[in-house]
Amino acid sequence: MTGPRRNALLARLSALYRRMDAAYDAVSGPLGFSCDGCATNCCTSYFQHHTYVEWLYLFQGLSALPDERRELYLERAARAVAATREALARGERPRVMCPVNDDGLCGLYAHRLMICRLHGVAHVLIGRAGVREFPGCPRCETLRAAHPGAGIMDRTVLYRELAAIEMELVGKKAARPPKVDATLAEMLVAGPPRV
Ligand code: SF4
Ligand code: SF4
Repeated sequence: MTGPRRNALLARLSALYRRMDAAYDAVSGPLGFSCDGCATNCCTSYFQHHTYVEWLYLFQGLSALPDERRELYLERAARAVAATREALARGERPRVMCPVNDDGLCGLYAHRLMICRLHGVAHVLIGRAGVREFPGCPRCETLRAAHPGAGIMDRTVLYRELAAIEMELVGKKAARPPKVDATLAEMLVAGPPRV
């Protein structure tokens, strides 16, 4: 794919991310939901399912960092990958801090992945099988219980747009977007995707 076409897709992803952030705020704001002071740090979650376009965008953010910070994140990523493998070898679900988390602050905030933007708040997905509802994290569930009639985020259109951007990037030969089974740390260690 040519540079200008790729940049156009990254700009489209950036616009989609803004829509995701707005959809999140529209639900979390009225609920008073935030991650502040939460003992469960979701930046240690073992999450693997991402997209190539997000991976590319992540590297756009990484490459804009000062060399020293970028090197630090890459070193941490290598350690995180090793720690994750060790946990898996012990038969445990890994809980390894994300390599770009700086004492609770995201070092690639503007370029963070979709799951980082949407996780936590209650949402629905509308498909052929009907409407599936997801309660959000325990803190969100507690707040919703105290606010009957609170809004819920509809992820359906957001997922569809992400899938459409991904298909543009990888080519339309596949029936559905390919899977990226890698953690954020694994993506950093692997380098930018070859798409
Ligand atoms: S990219 Fe940022 S928000 Fe996402 S897991 Fe890492 S530190 Fe947390
Ligand atoms: S999403 Fe929920 S569980 Fe995760 S850090 Fe935020 S408040 Fe805590």
